[in-house]
Amino acid sequence: MALLQISEPGMTSAPHQHRLAAGIDLGTTHSLVATVRSGSADTLADSQQQHLLPSVVHYSKDRPPLVGLEALAKANKDPLNTLASVKRLMGRGQNDLATIDGHLPYQFAETDSSVPRIQTVAGAVSAIEVSAEILKALRQRAEDSLGDILSGVVITVPAYFDDAQREATRDAAKLANLTVYRLINEPTAAAIAYGLDQQTSGTIAVYDLGGGTFDISILRLSKGVFEVLSTGGNSALGGDDFDYAIAEWILQQLPNAVADDQALLRQCLTLARQAKETLSHHETTEITLDHWQGTLSRTNFEALIAPLVKKTLSSCRRALRDAKLNKDEIDDVILVGGSTRVPSVREAVNAFFERTAHSKLDPDKVVAIGAARQADILAGNKPDQEMLLLDVIPLSLGIEMMGGLVDKVIHRNTAIPITRAQEFTTFKDGQTALSIHILQGERETVETNRSLGKFVLHGIPPMVAGAARIKVTFQVDADGLLNVDAQELTTGTRSNIEIKPSYGLTDNEIETMLRSSIDNAQDDVELRSLREQQIEARRTLEALNAAMESDDETLLSEEERQQLYAGHSELAATCKTSEDSEVIKAAIKKLEKSAEFYVERRMNSSVKKAMAGQQINDI
Ligand code: ADP
Ligand code: MG
Repeated sequence: MALLQISEPGMTSAPHQHRLAAGIDLGTTHSLVATVRSGSADTLADSQQQHLLPSVVHYSKDRPPLVGLEALAKANKDPLNTLASVKRLMGRGQNDLATIDGHLPYQFAETDSSVPRIQTVAGAVSAIEVSAEILKALRQRAEDSLGDILSGVVITVPAYFDDAQREATRDAAKLANLTVYRLINEPTAAAIAYGLDQQTSGTIAVYDLGGGTFDISILRLSKGVFEVLSTGGNSALGGDDFDYAIAEWILQQLPNAVADDQALLRQCLTLARQAKETLSHHETTEITLDHWQGTLSRTNFEALIAPLVKKTLSSCRRALRDAKLNKDEIDDVILVGGSTRVPSVREAVNAFFERTAHSKLDPDKVVAIGAARQADILAGNKPDQEMLLLDVIPLSLGIEMMGGLVDKVIHRNTAIPITRAQEFTTFKDGQTALSIHILQGERETVETNRSLGKFVLHGIPPMVAGAARIKVTFQVDADGLLNVDAQELTTGTRSNIEIKPSYGLTDNEIETMLRSSIDNAQDDVELRSLREQQIEARRTLEALNAAMESDDETLLSEEERQQLYAGHSELAATCKTSEDSEVIKAAIKKLEKSAEFYVERRMNSSVKKAMAGQQINDI
């Protein structure tokens, strides 16, 4: 093989050498790898003809970790060294552990690092390292079955993954020695798998019901550009809950089951899962336990899971609302995830969207197949085809302003990549540094948003308040990573920060933050206008002060000076005592009016400092 590839210097043996690229669906319960061969994409199987690799890793003292089915086989005997569902931990910090949905039956190691580590006999490991083992196994599978090394991969992530979670996924790939062409969103990959990217335009809903999670995403395709309009779902709802519903039903049938019998529950869950999967193809199924036997019909099963299915539809309704769309504006619906094999789930989705959802492809494989097609293009194997993928940011990004308010620079559901700049100024005379505090969230005040990072722009030349022009640029790249840059425009002084928070938001937190932003919208608006008026008042007071202090005392008579000081004190007092933005606003107006003559005089006299003149002009 190697010998055949030797060529004369400067001459390549194959001018259009095909680069081996793969798509990877790094899932919570299962992972897959797919590639494009002779123009068609498919997932790759292991030597046992299995396509789905359980996302499970087993650690032991004396050999490298086992991955997949072999690891899963150790779960019962050696649960503490058999790690599953680590995707829920990706990009999360110690502080986030309590808020993660789903039971994570691990022993966490005592550690100083902000990243939680799970204790195993082979040492403490992070979710990133565990994911790297899964990725290594998939890389090995691809290289074994294709006889070549991978030049790069596209890895899929949930659309709601934040910066930290995406960064953690990239880190895992790095550890697995993989070149990542790009991370793309799972729903986007699903749309590509169905070839919807070949259309000129369309609006697509992707309904993904997996083992432990439900995700709904609304995408829009226009002129070859994919944009995620909104995302929603539930990180603690999936096929596993169907299993629980059946298991509970079985337990109710048992005459003298002990309430807290864990072994019995586990047994019931296994039977429940088999029953559920059988009912996707049969009308009834027999369930046999040691001293009990029963029949579960599809109709009974449907009744058991109806409330859960209904919950997924409320998320769909919400995602539509976020995307500002009606159901009838959706052109295509795609089913993803093993649980969409349940007939009543399909029927419910079809009925909700009033059209037949795409389900031709295996719902387990859809995401990996779409990722493979994207990887093939990014590897340069299809030079005639270009595709730009756009996603959205799940929560707004903003900056802390005076008075603890947040000024949103990029709004939630804005398509990325995006760059947006906003100008700010100094608040105090002679201020030489500006602290920039970056926040994420929908509400108006700093305390109710999440802090992503802070940095200070130093070296602002001393100027009067409001004269410095500081341009703050937010840039979110195609992978969803944020870079913030601040520049003082008159001098070019610059500073920046790349946001790589050590932990991210759970989608539950996102939901909670969104909900509270709606619940509190009225309060927030009032609070905001109060704070705005308070700031405005302080600015007016400072400007007047500064002007009078810098004067050479020829512009004002003593009487006028006293009169302005009195007005100054009055506004300051109103500001302290009033909680009503309208009252403060009126007080500002009053002072401005009484100072009008002074502003005019300053403008007319040749004021030494043009800057100061400008500032007072603002009064
Ligand atoms: P994830 O994306 O969370 O890794 P998957 O998409 O692989 O999950 O879906 C796994 C879920 O699909 C499990 O709850 C499994 O029981 C369920 N599932 C798989 N096959 C069927 C079937 N034939 N009928 C019903 N549910 C199924
Ligand atoms: Mg999935």
